[in-house]
Amino acid sequence: MSSILHLSNLLARKEISSVELTKKYLSAINNINPSINAYISVTEEMALLQAQKADDMRKQLKGDAPLLLGIPMALKDNLAVRGFQTTCCSKTLENFKSTYTATAVQKLFNNGAILLGKTNMDEFAMGSYSNTGIFGATFNPYDTAKSAGGSSGGSAAAVSSKIAPYTLGTDTGGSARQPASFCGVVGYKPTYGTVSRYGAVALASSFDQISPIASTVKDCAIVYDTIKGFDINDMTTIKQNYAPCLDKINGNVKGVKIGIATKMFENCSKDVVDSVYRAIETYRGLGAEIVDITIPTIELALPIYYIIGCAEISSNFGRYDGIRYGYKTNKSYKDIDDMISKTRSEAFGDDVKRRIMLGIYFLSKNNFNEYYLKAIQLRNELTSDFENVFKQCDLIISPTTPTTALAFDFNPDNVVDKYKADICVVIANVCGLPAISLPCGTDSNGLPVGMQLIGPKNSDSRVLNTAFAFENTANLKLNPTLGGVTYDI
Ligand code: GLN
Repeated sequence: MSSILHLSNLLARKEISSVELTKKYLSAINNINPSINAYISVTEEMALLQAQKADDMRKQLKGDAPLLLGIPMALKDNLAVRGFQTTCCSKTLENFKSTYTATAVQKLFNNGAILLGKTNMDEFAMGSYSNTGIFGATFNPYDTAKSAGGSSGGSAAAVSSKIAPYTLGTDTGGSARQPASFCGVVGYKPTYGTVSRYGAVALASSFDQISPIASTVKDCAIVYDTIKGFDINDMTTIKQNYAPCLDKINGNVKGVKIGIATKMFENCSKDVVDSVYRAIETYRGLGAEIVDITIPTIELALPIYYIIGCAEISSNFGRYDGIRYGYKTNKSYKDIDDMISKTRSEAFGDDVKRRIMLGIYFLSKNNFNEYYLKAIQLRNELTSDFENVFKQCDLIISPTTPTTALAFDFNPDNVVDKYKADICVVIANVCGLPAISLPCGTDSNGLPVGMQLIGPKNSDSRVLNTAFAFENTANLKLNPTLGGVTYDI
């Protein structure tokens, strides 16, 4: 794969220019994207302009260049870039152009990143298979009959098929980690509040986090180090000293206590369980201590996520009313309520409507105490249970998802079954914890298996270092059937 570190070395050694590199990616996108539908738009003109600027800047630089200088990337289409469309793959925002750039994206630009385009996703980031948006499904680069996962499926598939060195996704309930796991790449959800959400289209604001997706753990650390920090435009960002994580990655996990909660392995396929247990043995071999843990309230994570998530969605989505921005019905209407109702009925997909209605139900006067308030109280309880568990161990290991990539005909009659697949990933969002998904093997069909590491708040560098320790030792050589730009060493 072409990691950021590797590309950055090539650029520094002048073995390639940023314009040449960008052209290679643009041509690979042309060749490969039609088979996987990872990109929904390509920003060629902007990419070449930025690449030229990066080359010019490199010539003038005296000291070391930022690691991201001149390296292309792609963004999930719920991240704002001034003057470009941000559709969230919804009819609602089909023609919407952003008037400002997301803070995290601006930080990448300030460090010389090149925008190749915007990537596919589930409508408004609700979903797990990247098949509910208006641009059609994203297909898995390992097997195009399978889903790339979701909701950041386009971002993960683009990295996996090597038509983007790295991307930004968002992770509200696993949307960066789950597709990363399906596509055999690394997805990193940082501690809540360490990356500004300004310019990320809100889904459930107390869970949303912009999250890097890349081919290696160190690449995720580089992107995270670049985008993190306090932002005056996001009052939930934490004011603290943000030391670079990259410097702390040395692969040493001697004495690190890794916790296993057997509950998190229930309902997982045998191939998934076996791969994760093999990874656990690798950690033991590296001198980590494996401890059994129990979190009695763990099963509450999913209902808490869906109740609070839907409640926040119903409130956030009040803005899509056909007046402020976005789609407005072409039909005639009696009054403003009729107009709003027609607008929303026409422009939102089923899952969006379902979650808004559920959210309104949970927040309504008669149900507020029983659902929303209870979920908030239990969220606090779960968070403190995890704080206690982190007195017994430094990190928790689990599968990322119960299965490897699923075929599109996977369509559980009961929508709750679909939601249940999020069981291991939502914990980190509910409790605001850092969590990473990285490949740990393949199943009997050669599809990647992802494992997850979760750490306590602000243990981002430990999570990244522990993930690196496995990646570095296992040295898995996963290879998707479809592949774009590679500079293998
Ligand atoms: N599968 C999760 C859901 O549907 C993913 C949401 C997310 O992280 N954006 O809610």
